[in-house]
Amino acid sequence: MALALGLGSLFNHSDSPNVSFSIDADTDSIRYTTSRAVLPDEELCIFYGDNLWFDPVDMKSIQNPTFETWQLVEGDPDEIIPEDKLPFVRIKTTPDDPEEEELFTIQTVEAWVVDVPDQRQIATMLRWLRTSGLEDSSVSHLKRIRKNQSSNISTLLLCLTSNSADPPALPNDMELPAPYVVRVPKLVALTQASLKLKSSLWPTNYAPKRKGEFEGWSRGKVRWAWEAMKTVLREATSIKRNGEHPIVAYVPEPYDEAIKEATQMQKAILAHDTRRTTSHPLRHATLNAIRAVADYRAATGDEETVPPLDNDSPSSNLTGVKEPEERRNGSHYLLTSLTVFLSHEPCIMCSMALLHSRVKEIIYITPMKKTGGCGSIACIPKLEGVNHRYGISRWKDGEGGISMEGLEVDEGEDA
Ligand SMILES: [Zn+2]
Repeated sequence: MALALGLGSLFNHSDSPNVSFSIDADTDSIRYTTSRAVLPDEELCIFYGDNLWFDPVDMKSIQNPTFETWQLVEGDPDEIIPEDKLPFVRIKTTPDDPEEEELFTIQTVEAWVVDVPDQRQIATMLRWLRTSGLEDSSVSHLKRIRKNQSSNISTLLLCLTSNSADPPALPNDMELPAPYVVRVPKLVALTQASLKLKSSLWPTNYAPKRKGEFEGWSRGKVRWAWEAMKTVLREATSIKRNGEHPIVAYVPEPYDEAIKEATQMQKAILAHDTRRTTSHPLRHATLNAIRAVADYRAATGDEETVPPLDNDSPSSNLTGVKEPEERRNGSHYLLTSLTVFLSHEPCIMCSMALLHSRVKEIIYITPMKKTGGCGSIACIPKLEGVNHRYGISRWKDGEGGISMEGLEVDEGEDA
């Protein structure tokens, strides 16, 4: 008998192994030898014998995905790709008929604002705002600055109170008055009449047409999405080999430099479903990804990413050393401004978790007709009363070699 230690204990089983082994009695060792040519990234496997204590995964059904070049991503990276040529279909998540809603009442939400008495401070504040982590799509329908003609004081919009229950911390060196709360329109103005009414509350953007409202995608960004989806498929193949559901969630570094800077995401987060290996029913890929982003943010949340606090804050101490609880409430788990790439349409629980995390958008490959919460049995960000909406896109099956093949899970499974 010989017991394999070290690397020898790491080989997985295969019915058609690429490694054979023999016991070398002279040296008291086990000798492993490749039995055929091995491809790059191919796993080395041995044969465990005929009496297995687990159900082997059919290796023949698991092919490493290969990707050819793709015409669509060749060319000027800044050129905007026409909507119908994009490799994904966007699912509308705005309420069905916002016009109708507008006829009766103007919906408002609360927002934090701050008066900026000195005009020369405006540019500095706008620059600061871009890196403050406060900017997100929830106020994109509003102008940033309201100018009071009579007093000549400008007021700067910081964020919605739903994004920050406490007054946002301002830069220490600016000597500004304390932020306060005002009511601002919840939606963009769709008609001239509503623009006038809404702008009397806060200067609002005018978007007469709701059709074609989607943000344009450049060729470079499509290439970025393609690379992300390739990573998703490779990971799905790899975890399927280990007996997991081939369900993957991937948060790459943002494409946009400004978003990269604002979100401080300098690392891609790749997570997969671990329900089988952990025997834990909640270890869905999306939840694992959100958790990994939280861990990353908590680990990198140094003073640069944590805004300085108000001097009146009761938790401030005299030495200026920051206590963990001084960090903005829960800010490190947020996916604000980030795009999540998914192998499968997330279940209702994960769709709701994405909403709570303020994700910007998700793109998935496989729709889950019986369990999906992003367009199939429900569309969570489209529900009445939710305080955040995120974009949903479904990859067109086969575009750029990205297909549902190999991602099959039981149709009743929650992804
Ligand atoms: Zn899920």
